[in-house]
Amino acid sequence: MSFQIHVAGSEFSFPCGGEETILDAALKAGIELPYSCRKGVCGNCAAKVNGGEVSRGIVNAEAVPEGQELLCQCRPLGNLEIAPSSWRLIEPGARQRLKAKVFRHTLAAPDVSVLQLRLPAGQRARFRAGQYLQVLLADGSRRAYSMANAPHESDGIQLHIRHVAGGQFTQQLSSLQSGDELEVELPFGQVAIDPGASSPLVCVCGGTGFAPVKSLLDDLSKRRSAREIALVWGGRDRQGLYMREHVGRWQRSLPGLHFLAAIEDANDAIEMQAFHGRVDAALATVAIDVDCTDVYCCGAPPMVNAVKTMCLQQLGMVPERFHSDVFAPGPAP
Ligand SMILES: Cc1cc2nc3c(=O)[nH]c(=O)nc-3n(C[C@H](O)[C@H](O)[C@H](O)COP(=O)(O)OP(=O)(O)OC[C@H]3O[C@@H](n4cnc5c(N)ncnc54)[C@H](O)[C@@H]3O)c2cc1C
Repeated sequence: MSFQIHVAGSEFSFPCGGEETILDAALKAGIELPYSCRKGVCGNCAAKVNGGEVSRGIVNAEAVPEGQELLCQCRPLGNLEIAPSSWRLIEPGARQRLKAKVFRHTLAAPDVSVLQLRLPAGQRARFRAGQYLQVLLADGSRRAYSMANAPHESDGIQLHIRHVAGGQFTQQLSSLQSGDELEVELPFGQVAIDPGASSPLVCVCGGTGFAPVKSLLDDLSKRRSAREIALVWGGRDRQGLYMREHVGRWQRSLPGLHFLAAIEDANDAIEMQAFHGRVDAALATVAIDVDCTDVYCCGAPPMVNAVKTMCLQQLGMVPERFHSDVFAPGPAP
């Protein structure tokens, strides 16, 4: 059975089978809605649903604003209307499936691989800073990884991958060498950071959540942005802040950049003259004008949730100004 889903305030409707999620059906119909994890964790796809009932999958209740549904987890039980915070038509053929080759594989920290992928001759990766790709595994499952390079460096792709004990894909990383092939599909994710905007921006990241933030800051550097930017980067210890040399480069190319490191290990925090504690506590020390500042937060679900709670509940920021990519573990849907 298929139902019609109407996008509020537009002339667009799309079909959605009772077995598929509203987000999947919208993407299939060429309508891009805000989303990131597609696992009911991040809450980016929350929207009002009018005039009809839905069945709900498993969701992180904290990520669902009152009176809204997570479109990545709900299926229609009849015709209905959705009112997403934003939407746009996807260019046909925007998504690419490529056979990329490992060009270089290095360790940025004992448990973080940096993979530099080369694309087949003549192919360019098309994506926006903050988006991610999916690696297609032999068993048909997929894993999501954010691009760490800026979109203008489109002849290759850089990924930062944390090793997960027993992880199906990441435990194979140690044997991945130059010349090995990975099949990837991109781009995915719709983080609504406008790189051309001039309003203040706060980037908060932990672990390999640094990857999409690196892409964004490299992009802003290329654009010679004069934007006021605060980078709050957290780790358990000094090794968590891998590739720190980039911060110095950005401080030279981005005159409005302010950097704050947050380290949980007391000795490392003292030695690095960093904030001692978690990244959300560090963020509380940054002066933020909530009326005009966008926050972009990326990393593990507990970290993003803590930062989101702080921004929305303690600082009173409107949800439209909080953008996040949550590295929800496990296969990509
Ligand atoms: C939008 C998005 C972007 C992402 N981008 C990145 C990225 O740039 N870099 C990156 O390193 N990861 C990223 N991830 C996570 C990544 O997709 C995989 O989930 C992760 O690498 C584990 O894959 P695996 O096959 O090794 O483990 P799996 O075989 O999928 O998982 C094995 C077991 O470990 C658990 N597990 C998996 N990951 C973790 C974790 N981090 N902490 C605790 N337990 C875990 C699983 O629940 C499972 O029980 C992203 C996820 C999403 C949704």
